[in-house]
Amino acid sequence: MRISHFFIDRPIFAGVISIVFVIIGAVALGRGSTAQPGQPATGRRGQAASQSKGGQTERHGNRDKVWRALEAALSKDKAKTTLNRISELGLIEMTRKRTRESLAHQLCAPCAACEGRGYVKTPETVCYEIFREILRQTGQFEFQELLVLAHQDVIERLLDEESAALGELEVLTGKPIRLQTEALYLIDQYDVVLM
Ligand SMILES: [Zn+2]
Repeated sequence: MRISHFFIDRPIFAGVISIVFVIIGAVALGRGSTAQPGQPATGRRGQAASQSKGGQTERHGNRDKVWRALEAALSKDKAKTTLNRISELGLIEMTRKRTRESLAHQLCAPCAACEGRGYVKTPETVCYEIFREILRQTGQFEFQELLVLAHQDVIERLLDEESAALGELEVLTGKPIRLQTEALYLIDQYDVVLM
């Protein structure tokens, strides 16, 4: 007899760290984005005061505003975030660690048919397993008749494509083989019962 196992196989998404790049547009940076030709942008925060050019200073002022606004917004975020820096191009590199399971894991359960593997045995494969199980059991025990309990798709295949093979088994064992659909069985669940 087979016992089916239901594994709760839930990949842990909580530990996944997603890297998010936030692009700060030219609008946020204001007129500072029109840097003078030949004047390399320094980019680093805190160096703005040393720049004598008005545009550079204003740009860094705007970057500080954006930085502070982002920090304030992220302080309300329950996920753990780390802001790294504003790059020359006005990009902020940010890591955000999810502390909750993904939405799919909140709303869904593992697939009962395949237990999360993504594959199930075909009815054909299960039929051949049943044939081997019949041969194994009938070689060991005395019985008057034989009952096969299985999923509907498997029973249908036994009655159709595999009916000749099933007939041969009846001749071989000299006993009748009865088939019964078990509504609650998964595709790869079956029982071979000697009676
Ligand atoms: Zn599945």
